[in-house]
Amino acid sequence: MQRDSQIFDYIKQENKRQLDGIELIASENFVSEQVMEAMGSILTNKYAEGLPGKRYYGGCEVVDEIESLAISRLNELFGANWSNVQPHSGAQANMAVFSAFLKPGDKILGFDLSHGGHLSHGSPVNVSGKWFDANFYGVEKETGKIDFNKVANQIIDLKPKLVIAGASAYSRDWDYSTMRKACDQVGAMLLADISHPSGLIAKGLLNDPMKDCHIVTTTTHKTLRGPRGGVIMMGEDFENPFGFKTLKGATKMMSQVLDGAVFPGTQGGPLEHVIAAKAVAFGEALSDDYLKYAKQVKRNASVMADEMVKRGYQIISGGTDNHSMLIDLRSKDLTGKVAEAVLGQAHITTNKNMVPFDDKSPFVTSGIRFGTNAITTRGIDENGIVEIVNLVDEALMAAGNDSKLASIGEKVKTMMSGKPLFAH
Ligand SMILES: *Cc1c(COP(=O)(O)O)cnc(C)c1O
Repeated sequence: MQRDSQIFDYIKQENKRQLDGIELIASENFVSEQVMEAMGSILTNKYAEGLPGKRYYGGCEVVDEIESLAISRLNELFGANWSNVQPHSGAQANMAVFSAFLKPGDKILGFDLSHGGHLSHGSPVNVSGKWFDANFYGVEKETGKIDFNKVANQIIDLKPKLVIAGASAYSRDWDYSTMRKACDQVGAMLLADISHPSGLIAKGLLNDPMKDCHIVTTTTHKTLRGPRGGVIMMGEDFENPFGFKTLKGATKMMSQVLDGAVFPGTQGGPLEHVIAAKAVAFGEALSDDYLKYAKQVKRNASVMADEMVKRGYQIISGGTDNHSMLIDLRSKDLTGKVAEAVLGQAHITTNKNMVPFDDKSPFVTSGIRFGTNAITTRGIDENGIVEIVNLVDEALMAAGNDSKLASIGEKVKTMMSGKPLFAH
């Protein structure tokens, strides 16, 4: 058969784009060769509807071993008692949780999209906002931080069926235990969606949601540095807040409902090639090398935030506890849309983002989001971060000056040349 040169030429172009640029998108990362090898393997040929040992197809003895290993490594990584590694993405993982425990019209409470929340937490354009009565909490205007006592009061007043902790653009840590106490008062279920900081949580660098939250979902491709995908996990046996007859064994009963909500509830056959790649990534994340990486991600973010502030940029909440930060560009008379485009001209990839209490539309926005997870994988340390902030600032101040931006782009290429995608 003839090689598909059209597609492989495009892949080559994309490879060059990734190598030449500075990747600051907080939700992206660079996976190892062995993660890609597993993902690109013959496992893609296999149908395996069901779970290890309980499949609807023959010939699953090998993929059963692979999926079981993925589950046990994930459980070890997060201290979970149960997990399902089949969700095709983070949004799919959340959808499965909703379909397991909610009915159309049920009240849910999530973090406001315009304050840094995620579409799948009740946005009107997502099924979570169309089918459920979605309510939101946000950050305080003065501090840019969530006041968890206020959230607790909101939970008690609203009496939602499900509360979601977690965000896509919030640079501070979460007080899961205060949220849980309020949930217990009104019989609400608490879901933590740790898609963004999961890698840091796995290594103990942020608060642990597993102790306090009934269910934890995450993507596998952000700080966790695996293939694109999602997972669902549970920690302890919890007392009965959601109508099950037994007090003990709630985890087991919930897990059966959740397994069924993934397949056949909301998905068909699992992607065993991606599950194998997840298992490889979980294995990597269990290593000391990954701990060093996660610590460096956090240090790099903290240095990046300080350096941005020194140059007069305003960071929502004033700094960061994790891998990311949200920058309000209004003090520099720039919009997120312009900043994303200008930085793009200089081969620095970012995404525009709403800031809390934004006066611009989601297509324009007043903010931009940075994360250090991808560049840290390329081997960038604190010194490199200072260099990157200088390039970012230089580029933003050169908005409209195409030749200047092109010359900054050349500096970016020089800085990144010789650095493999996966160095750390
Ligand atoms: C990225 C993200 C998701 C969605 O992940 P996809 O894999 O893109 O579906 C869900 N929740 C949060 C908080 C996220 O940041």
